[in-house]
Amino acid sequence: MAIGLRRPWNAVDFDDLARLFRPPPEYFEREWFVGPEEIDRLKLSRLRDRADRAYRVPFFRRLWDANGFDPRDLRSLDDMAHVPTYTVDDLRINIEEHPPYGDYQGVSADDAVREPLRIHMSGGTTGEPRPTLYTQWDRGVSGVLNARGMYMQGLRPGDVVVNSWAYGLHNGAFSFDEALQRWMNCLVITASTGAVTSTAKQLDLARRFGAAAILTTGDHLVRIAEEARSMGLDPKRDLSIRALATNVGNEELLEEIFGIPAYATYGFHEVGTVAVECPAKEGLHIFEDAFHVRVVDVETGEPLPDGETGALVVTECYKTGSPQFGYNIMDLSKLYPRERCSCGSWLRRMGRFAGRGDTMVKLRGVNVWPEGIGRIATSVEGTIPDYFVRAISADGRDQLVVSVASNAAPDRHDELQATIERRLRDQLGVGIGVEIVAPGSLDQFTGQATGKAKRFRDDR
Ligand SMILES: [Zn+2]
Repeated sequence: MAIGLRRPWNAVDFDDLARLFRPPPEYFEREWFVGPEEIDRLKLSRLRDRADRAYRVPFFRRLWDANGFDPRDLRSLDDMAHVPTYTVDDLRINIEEHPPYGDYQGVSADDAVREPLRIHMSGGTTGEPRPTLYTQWDRGVSGVLNARGMYMQGLRPGDVVVNSWAYGLHNGAFSFDEALQRWMNCLVITASTGAVTSTAKQLDLARRFGAAAILTTGDHLVRIAEEARSMGLDPKRDLSIRALATNVGNEELLEEIFGIPAYATYGFHEVGTVAVECPAKEGLHIFEDAFHVRVVDVETGEPLPDGETGALVVTECYKTGSPQFGYNIMDLSKLYPRERCSCGSWLRRMGRFAGRGDTMVKLRGVNVWPEGIGRIATSVEGTIPDYFVRAISADGRDQLVVSVASNAAPDRHDELQATIERRLRDQLGVGIGVEIVAPGSLDQFTGQATGKAKRFRDDR
């Protein structure tokens, strides 16, 4: 063996990893219930270690030095409010200045000799895709975190799971795959998206092997159910779906189709699953052994009190490779006060994903978000959960138009349009244009097949 070459099991002590970051089901027996002091003590000590490490990465050193932040000043969790934040735009600029990886990565390709590495790219819906380098350890812990999320959503060891996320540049499909195979002992069927394995074939696989879940967008899962019905099958009776895992979309519709509860998770490609909803459905519990989350004002970056919606600033404290320390991810949500949930857990809760801070549009003095418009529009009977919002300039003023997909007969479209317009005006306090379109006709705008649907375009 070449000198210094370390294979996964040489580079990482997996027993150690599973002790420090407990996988399911063990995690839900003890760590889920520990008290607030123990949560905070562990988190602070991990954050301090992580800050030391981040300070040795050029991007963070420059950012922190420029803002007068010294990692040794991190003495309590309150001090996290002083950590300088950065956004995806800062990372994009950094990649341009330091191609091809940017200098915000804590490792480089050479390190792969000492510890196996892999790289995945962000969706890249605008600009160049952003690379993230992951060490073997990072893959291991984020696999544990993803496994916790899917366990909470209903998957169990031994389940057969069709993974219908895109096996491509993006992390999504691989991170779920690793979580299920390595930490949940589930049997993964590597279907990838409908473009690789047709929807009919996916349905066939799910039936033949008795899949407990099909990992995909909620919209795609609805289409698979429609396909089943068109073959005279009942999705509840003739499929074995027991978990709505990773199926972000119209939850009520999915629960109705499959007759099982849906629990939300929150995460993103650089860090994996951050938080998961419990059966109480009063917020998503943050995995505080691995994350610190705070909420700031979208425009000023100032900290917001519990309960107020703003942009999430996420810090991970589990990695050994590329740090994410004070990342203003610009996803909107809120924090609940620290208190014991009815499920028994003290883990801090955050609200559900409430939209993107960087697609906020000020319309005649009212702040509106495309996701908020979509949620209201697709709650109207006769629509399906697929929409696309455009900002346009007409008659010298800004306007928003939402296209909503519907299965309803064309002679019902006028009435449906009027109902949606009325509901939007009632709930948002501002007029928004509505057009009704046929199912599937928005795919060219939303890029549905890639998993992370795009819901907004600025045409002003
Ligand atoms: Zn709970």
